[in-house]
Amino acid sequence: MTRSHDRDPFGDFRRVLAVIAHPDDESFGLGAVLSEAVDRDAWAGVVCFTHGESSTLHASPGDLSVLRSQELQAAGAALRLSRVELHRYPDGRLASVPLDDLARHVLRVIGEEHPTHLLVFDPDGVTGHPDHRGVTQAGLAAARAAGLPVLAWTVPRCVAERLNAEFGTAFTGRDPAEIDVTLTVSRERQWRAIACHHSQAVDNPVLRRRLDLLGDREYLRLIHPPTRKGAHTMSYGITVRLPVPFAPTVQRVRAALKEQGFGVLTEIDVQGHPAGEARRRHGELPHSRRVQPIAGPPGSCGRPRHRFAAALQRRCPGRRA
Ligand SMILES: [Zn+2]
Repeated sequence: MTRSHDRDPFGDFRRVLAVIAHPDDESFGLGAVLSEAVDRDAWAGVVCFTHGESSTLHASPGDLSVLRSQELQAAGAALRLSRVELHRYPDGRLASVPLDDLARHVLRVIGEEHPTHLLVFDPDGVTGHPDHRGVTQAGLAAARAAGLPVLAWTVPRCVAERLNAEFGTAFTGRDPAEIDVTLTVSRERQWRAIACHHSQAVDNPVLRRRLDLLGDREYLRLIHPPTRKGAHTMSYGITVRLPVPFAPTVQRVRAALKEQGFGVLTEIDVQGHPAGEARRRHGELPHSRRVQPIAGPPGSCGRPRHRFAAALQRRCPGRRA
């Protein structure tokens, strides 16, 4: 790995979780980077949000949703991924899915697998597909909540412009100054993984030309470094909106926490809390009141790793959530 500056922005590159929109993104786009991670003895896994059923490419007979699910599993094995998680959100319409809904899956996997980095498509989507942009935003939201750095896969602007000129595509690229890491890669396993996506790869001259133009290089940006080493931010990992009154909900959450062995250590009414005041001044908490019970298992002494926070927020009817 070579870097465009002296500072190592990544620390250890030990566990990489890729967050993608479609089966084949892990291979066509991220395959060489994931291979490189595995070659460095890193754990690598992927969360994919659609079955890719809306693709215009359909080289194999059969239900595209089923085919592409099977192709993803095969490609994951070819790339030696330790985890492949596939969800059934609508292909082509991810932008209409609430960000929290997507981000909660990423946060759950972060909690289970403890990645050191997320790997996503660059926020501009790289290929111009809106699903790529939507999923990257979900990845970034999860990364912010978990305090994780994000590696964003991109291509040099000259490569994007060449592809667009030759094929009329909508690739977006980055200038050298915007690229943090240039990886020297082997594409051997990436090609094997690409071959697993038979329904998409048989007639795909754009893919072949892109890999030809990139040669043995891949390009990454660091777009969400933690504020300091080991920093973790507390945020809303999961948001659930309930059409029920506020006070009984608080009681039911208390009971549920107790049932799971958690006791409420303290409660913060952020109506009078500086953070709450600041957010209200910025218009984020108009006329709302938030009660935040901080709970932990009995005897935990509130140590961070044992702490659990549940935030309950009451919204006034008719106000923007
Ligand atoms: Zn895609």
